[in-house]
Amino acid sequence: MKRLLFLAWMALALPLGAHRPAPSAGAFAVPVETTVYVTKTGGKYHKGTCGYLSKSKIAMALSEAKAAGYGPCSRCKPPQ
Ligand SMILES: [Zn+2]
Repeated sequence: MKRLLFLAWMALALPLGAHRPAPSAGAFAVPVETTVYVTKTGGKYHKGTCGYLSKSKIAMALSEAKAAGYGPCSRCKPPQ
């Protein structure tokens, strides 16, 4: 009996669910914030692979780095 109720619930719930936008569809529409890396002492932000990051590597969002006054590294050319 419980199984029948479950199937009936599924039959009702599935068509309703199809009308809702999937959460992942919305996530694709929002651009993912680019992560860049800064050092403790430098005034530039870098890509994660840059050689200047050997001493310290602090991850932050690109917009955050720019807001903090960091400029793009001329060696690894991170996104601006
Ligand atoms: Zn760099």
